[in-house]
Amino acid sequence: MPDCLFCKIIEGKIPATVVHKDEHCLGFLDINPQAPLHALFVPFKHVATLNDATVEDREMLGHLMFAAAKVAREKGFADTGYRTVMNCNREAGQTVFHVHLHLLAGRPMSWPPG
Ligand code: AMP
Ligand code: ZN
Repeated sequence: MPDCLFCKIIEGKIPATVVHKDEHCLGFLDINPQAPLHALFVPFKHVATLNDATVEDREMLGHLMFAAAKVAREKGFADTGYRTVMNCNREAGQTVFHVHLHLLAGRPMSWPPG
């Protein structure tokens, strides 16, 4: 995908601090962390937003959740808790148009989110 930041990170053309890699996705630290642990889980397949996901993407989307839970567990946040978030489009604050799951942990979080 031309000019997609996360495709470039997946291809290794832009550096990132990788915390997870498997056959479907890459997990790396967010460059502007909003919590002591803030990682992004990005599928190798370029899908711009959740709106663009098809039934064929269901397994991939669930896979992102499992990858995030695995890293949360490995980093010691399973019991204290963590949050996973996927922003879709402008009002949710999506800024990179390659679907990604945020994993946030390490501080108390309020609800509803801002
Ligand atoms: P969203 O606002 O949901 O689209 O999330 C995009 C996230 O990507 C933001 O939290 C950014 O801080 C993060 N981000 C932008 N550029 C980079 C980068 N080069 N490496 C890691 N994270 C990035
Ligand atoms: Zn992409």
